[in-house]
This record gives sequence, C-alpha cells and structure tokens, in this order.
Amino acid sequence: MRPDRLNPLFAETASLPGVGPAAVRALERLEIRRTRDLLFHFPVGWRETRFAPSLAGVTEGERISIAVRILSHEPSRGRGPLRIIADDASGIGLLLAFFGPKSHGLAARFPIGAELTVAGRLELWNGRFQIIHPELRKADTPDTEPVYALTEGMTSRRIAGLVQAALPKIPQLDEWIEPGLLSKRGWPGFAAALTQVHSTPGSEGARDRLAYDELLATQLAWALVRARRRRQRGQPLQGNGRLTEALLAQLPWALTGAQRHAVSEIAGDMATPHAMLRLLQGDVGSGKTLVALLALLIAVEAGAQGAFLAPTDLLARQHHATLQKLLGNLPVRLGFLSGREKGKAREAVLAALAAGEIDILVGTHAIFSGSVQYHRLGLAVVDEQHRFGVAQRLMLAEKADVPPHLVVMTATPIPRTLALAQFGEMDVSKLDERPPGRQPVETRIMSLPRLDEVLDGLARHIATGAQAYWVCPLLDAGADEETVADPDAAAPAVARAAALRQRFGDKVALVHGKLQGAARDREMARFQQGEAAILVATTVIEVGVDVPNASLMVIEGAERFGLAQLHQLRGRVGRGTARSVCLLLRGDNLSETAKERLRMMRSTDDGFAIAEADLRLRGAGELLGTRQSGEQGFGIATPEQVARLLQTAHDDARLLIERDGGLTGPRGEAARNLLYLFEKDAAVATLRGG
Ligand code: ADP
Ligand code: MG
Repeated sequence: MRPDRLNPLFAETASLPGVGPAAVRALERLEIRRTRDLLFHFPVGWRETRFAPSLAGVTEGERISIAVRILSHEPSRGRGPLRIIADDASGIGLLLAFFGPKSHGLAARFPIGAELTVAGRLELWNGRFQIIHPELRKADTPDTEPVYALTEGMTSRRIAGLVQAALPKIPQLDEWIEPGLLSKRGWPGFAAALTQVHSTPGSEGARDRLAYDELLATQLAWALVRARRRRQRGQPLQGNGRLTEALLAQLPWALTGAQRHAVSEIAGDMATPHAMLRLLQGDVGSGKTLVALLALLIAVEAGAQGAFLAPTDLLARQHHATLQKLLGNLPVRLGFLSGREKGKAREAVLAALAAGEIDILVGTHAIFSGSVQYHRLGLAVVDEQHRFGVAQRLMLAEKADVPPHLVVMTATPIPRTLALAQFGEMDVSKLDERPPGRQPVETRIMSLPRLDEVLDGLARHIATGAQAYWVCPLLDAGADEETVADPDAAAPAVARAAALRQRFGDKVALVHGKLQGAARDREMARFQQGEAAILVATTVIEVGVDVPNASLMVIEGAERFGLAQLHQLRGRVGRGTARSVCLLLRGDNLSETAKERLRMMRSTDDGFAIAEADLRLRGAGELLGTRQSGEQGFGIATPEQVARLLQTAHDDARLLIERDGGLTGPRGEAARNLLYLFEKDAAVATLRGG
C-alpha cells in the first residue's frame, strides 16, 4: 500500500484550483491525470520577454514588453482587426491589433490616455510596429516563462499556473539518494529540484537529479525482482530431442552458427534448477522465431508447457501461423488466445490449457491474465520486450508454482547500459549472423520535391507484381504555439493514402494507430493476401510484420524518425528473394545531425553499429531524440541521461537491496517512497510475497 504521505502527489488534477471537467480532459490528453504527472511534465523550452525601454532598436519578431500611452481606437473594418494606436516614451507608434469577438470590452481595458505596459511579439505591418493580441503586464510579471508541450484547451501559462499551485503540495520526504553521491554532484533535494525545473531555464543539476530518481526507481525494482528470484528454485527442464530433432530434419535449411549457439545456451540454462532469464537479441531477420520455437519444444519434450507472447493481436496471429507452418505434422498442440477470443471459444482454450491439452499457447498479454491457468508452465517466450516490465514479469511468476524460465526476444540491438535499464539483469544471447541468401537492402535518400519520380518508380514497382510499404511520420504539433489544435497524429498517413488512391485506386491499404480491431485486420489482410499492393502506415508496422513479397519501403519525413526506428522499418523489406529498396524521403533544411543520421542509414545495415550511432547522435540533444525517450520506457530521463547515469543507479540499487537486505533502515524506507512515486508497486510487493 502506498504511504499516505504521498497522497497529495497522487491527487487527481480535478483537485487543483480552477480545474473543471474540460481542463481535466485536456490534461488527460497530455497523460496528466494526477498531480505527480503534472509535476513531471517538464517545460520543453522557455519564452523570454525582454523589457524594452523604447521601440528604437527592437528587431522584428522579438518578444518584448514595453510601456506605452494609448492614443486612439480604430474600429475594425469588415473582417479586419480592431486596432488601438499607442506610442512609446520616445513617441514611436505602436499598433495593438485584436481579431475576432475578443475585441469586446477592449475600450475599457485600453482607455485613451492610459499609460500601460503591454507585451507580445513585435511585428511590422504596413511599415508600422504592431503587436497582435498583446497582454497587459504588471511590473512584477516574470519575463522568462516556461513553455510546455500542449494540447487543445491548454496554454503554457495555464499549465505553469497549475504547476505553481501543485509545487507547495509536495510532501516532506526523506532523501533516498545516497548522501555521498548527492553532495558530490551538488544536486538539490527532490522538491527543490522540481521547483527549479519549472522555474529556471537550464537547471541541469535538478534535471539530472530527477532523471536519476527515475532510473534509481527502475533499478531498485529490478533488484527486488532479482533478489526474489534468487530465493526461489526453478524447474530443471531437459529435452530428449524427440521434437527438436524432428523439426530440424524437416527444415529446408540448417541453423546458422549463431542460432545453434543460442539454442545451446538456452537449453543449458533450462536444465538448471534456477529460472532462466535470458535476452535473445538479434537484428530483424536474424531468425529469432526459430530459436524460440526450439526452446519451446525443449520444454514440451520435458513434459511442460510453453507460452509465446507477442505485443499485439496482429503479431500474435502472425507468430501463431508461422509456428504452425514450421511445425508441420509434428505432434505438438498449439493454442491461441488474445483479448478478442470471447465466450465459448475462450472457455475451450482455457479448459484445454488447464488440462495440459495445449503444449504451446501463443497470444497477447491475455495469455498471462488473471483467469488463465496453465497445467504446467515451463517456459515463456516474450517477443519485443518493451511492454513487458517488472509488473508483467511478476504476473508471469504467478502462473506456475515454480517460476517458469523466461526468454525475451528483441530486435533492437541496444547497448549494454540500455539493456540493463530496460530489462534488468539478464543473460544475453546474440544472433549476430544472418541466415544465408539474404540480399542487403539498397538504401537511397531523396528529397520530397522529387515526389513525382518516386510515384513513377512506385508504379513500375507494383506493375511487376511486387508490393510496397509507405510509412508516414506522425503529425508534429509544434510546441511553440500557445494553442495547438488537437492533432490527429495519423493525419499525414491518411492524407498520403488519399493522394496515392487518386493514382492507384483500391490497391492502396491504410493502417494507423486509431484504426482498431476488425477494420485494421481487414486492411492488413488485404495487404498480406496481395489484394492491396501498397500499405500506407504510421509506425504501427514497425515490429514483426512479414510480407516477403514487399520489397520496396518508402519512408516519408525520414529525418523525423530515430535511427533505430528507421532500421526496424527497413527490416520489413529484404525478406524475400527479390532485390529490395528502401527510399528515405527527406524534407528541406535538415540539420547536420539529421543529415548524418540519414547517411548512416545509407552506409550500413549493421543494427549494432546503428544503435551506437543513434545513442551518440541523440546525445547531441536533438529534440527528436528527447521525444523518443518515452519509447525506452522512461518519462523523464533522456537517452543521454540514461547513458550517463544508469550505471551509478544500478550499482546503488544493488548495494541498497543486497546490503540492507531489502528496504529496511532509514534510507530503505525513503527508497520505498521513491518506488511508489514511480509506481513500482508490484516490485515493493515482492518484499512480502515469497
Ligand atoms: P526475426 O524474428 O529475428 O526478425 P525471423 O525469425 O522472422 O527473424 O526469421 C526471418 C526469416 O528467416 C524467416 O522467414 C525464417 O524462416 C528464415 N530463417 C530463419 N532461420 C533460418 C536459417 N537458419 N536459414 C535460412 N532461413 C532462416
Ligand atoms: Mg520476429
């Protein structure tokens, strides 16, 4: 149970002053539901307003505040704005322009003859200085204001006001960071750090401290899980080769050396009386599925069951089909379960599973949900890990009296520090060798203005009967504006599909995040069955989709994707025997970093090299990189901070858990608050559960 002391931080946003239902909804769109979420919503930039004593010397576009005298009002003509004419102390004229219905009541706020301070962005209009919708300032208004990521119905100033109301609610909490480290780095305390981050540009120390808090919380959680695993015995599972050998005999090709090595590492782990925890890392197309299947067959040979988890319904179905095909006529009973199986069908699967009549269950997270009971679960394989954190791992442990072995597969070739952060302590098997006969994908960079050429190329491509992907970036809602219309993130993909349909008709299929369930399945099926030749998509196709006949990948706005993401996307093609091409369409005015990224993509298809470069280039602090930190499971820590601070957090967490024997002692108590603060409740619970 969360300590009461933390309650103010978990209070709903509705409890903040002036927050009604509309504001609650707007905040929710920013994933701000509770006070803590608001406080962890850091400024993305700062807006400076300079006090200008006179308009002389102010440049166009600058934000200023200035003392003026109101001279006259000029009513609006037609659709034009209402203009108020003023001048500054030196007699230089300034127009204050007001558009729309808001112009009512202005006469009272800007009475003729009044001396006022106004603020806004200085523009030139017909050769005269003008500020549109200026604010009235009091002398004490701060001239540096935080700018926050926004959504419709929220302004930066509103968020700043809410943050100011929330800051005093931070309870007094004992320090959880090791005192030596805190003083060495000169970091502020938790509450002081939050206050700084929201009120002072820069604040590197405060930002580092809070990033460290987040990293420490994850590392503590993993350390607790690890400690618990050590207290428990596992199930030694030894295969007899009955199924694995039959499978290998019926495959048209031999295992690669890397596959053979990984299988033997896994088999070795499974035979010991400790639950295996192994990361199977291999680039797209390196043949992880087959390794997973062999491991599952070892479990079945040993009389246990296997579970194969995929992150989405689509991928789970695809895996199910792949395994079925690979197994052929082998005597292995395969089951399938996702959230979409309901009623009788679901009951039948659950009954068969509990009775031990299913050997391998494939599915989504539904396969580990509360009501699902295994007869004897021996091995779980999890594909594409990032949605399988501490809580999920503990849930899995509930599924058997003795904790099952676990293999986590990932195609993201992450450097060791990041692996540690995302997966906790695991052994690693690497598939660093591709199956033979695969052709490298030729990568070209083109600028979007040459779109016509691209379309002609696309037409020639599909005329040969081949298929193509066309990936669009999500809509980029500029963070600089006061109010941003609620962005439909998939808009670019929808628009591109519409444009392509004008030329290619119903040969174009479209999938994006908002398209769910049956509609999405239908579009995917049209593409998978070859009915549609072009699949327009947002990054939802990033993981796992396998259509060997698709040999052209067009990525629009390529500079807006992270390197790792581009690499994943490119991995969707080059799966068949045909020569494959990846076209990176880029916009104009790219930064040097963005250009280097794209050149990197063209020069190599080595996933590990790309991952290293990605980390290095993101370290340069590009906004794009910062935004992607969420993908790595961190809301606060940027990739650069992860790289710099993780090892320390990891070591500190282990010391605390192993030396203090859990979370007793004063610092342990404080660390408990930290865990709840970052919602690692499940990990804290391991202290009580065996
Ligand atoms: P990953 O999941 O690692 O991206 P897959 O498991 O989907 O890769 O394998 C990619 C393709 O390579 C599949 O079509 C698979 O059947 C094939 N494959 C796997 N292992 C080998 C091998 N040893 N030799 C030839 N082809 C293989
Ligand atoms: Mg795969």
